[in-house]
Amino acid sequence: MQQRKKLVAGNWKMNGGLAANAALLDGVLAGLGAPACGVAACVPAPYLAQVQARVAGSALALGAQDVSAFASGAYTGEVSAGMLVDFGVAYAIVGHSERRQYHGETDATVAAKALAALDKGITPIVCVGETLAEREADQTVAVVSRQLAAVLTKLGDKAAAIVVAYEPVWAIGTGRTASPEQAQAVHAALRAQLAEAGEAAAMQPILYGGSMNAANAAQLLAQADIDGGLIGGASLKAADFLAIVAAAG
Ligand code: PEP
Repeated sequence: MQQRKKLVAGNWKMNGGLAANAALLDGVLAGLGAPACGVAACVPAPYLAQVQARVAGSALALGAQDVSAFASGAYTGEVSAGMLVDFGVAYAIVGHSERRQYHGETDATVAAKALAALDKGITPIVCVGETLAEREADQTVAVVSRQLAAVLTKLGDKAAAIVVAYEPVWAIGTGRTASPEQAQAVHAALRAQLAEAGEAAAMQPILYGGSMNAANAAQLLAQADIDGGLIGGASLKAADFLAIVAAAG
């Protein structure tokens, strides 16, 4: 039987600097070797060149934290998928809750960004997740299904090339984690939705994100439909990130 691919992706968010990045990458690369799963670091745009040079020849893939929906033009501050390709970017996070919350990104924007990435051969990591109020109102599956449906509809056949990340908003950066059972229930619903888009889409990784760390990763990753993690805070500590990679293997 074909195995689903696994992926552990770090999301450095707006952290780091030349010296801190170098030290973090030294630590990660010293222990990474040939991991059993895919591993990526999604870094701030100004450091793409630095990280590209340092990870060359290693198993650490380069990712971006966002991508413009547009190819070029008068979009001050935006970074296009074509520009990311120039730096060897393999993954781009789209629809992170911090982009939805602080930058007003809608489901339609997220879908357009996912398409822009795919059209340049970059794998979008499509984030979906409910707020605490939505969970308490029993709206979790309705919310994440709506968010994913916007992307699947826009992508059509290309949906078979995305990665999905389930990130409950109430668990991001809060130290609160979804229980393995809570996460698995949502992942199973997302898997069923991907399956409606085709067999190939159903084989794509669905990552969990939200305060995943070295201590809780193994339990979360043991769930049937959790294929890896999108890791914020713990990706800034080499030992913790490597422990999560090992747990995913
Ligand atoms: C994230 O921002 O994608 C994330 C999962 O953050 P943290 O691990 O810090 O909760």
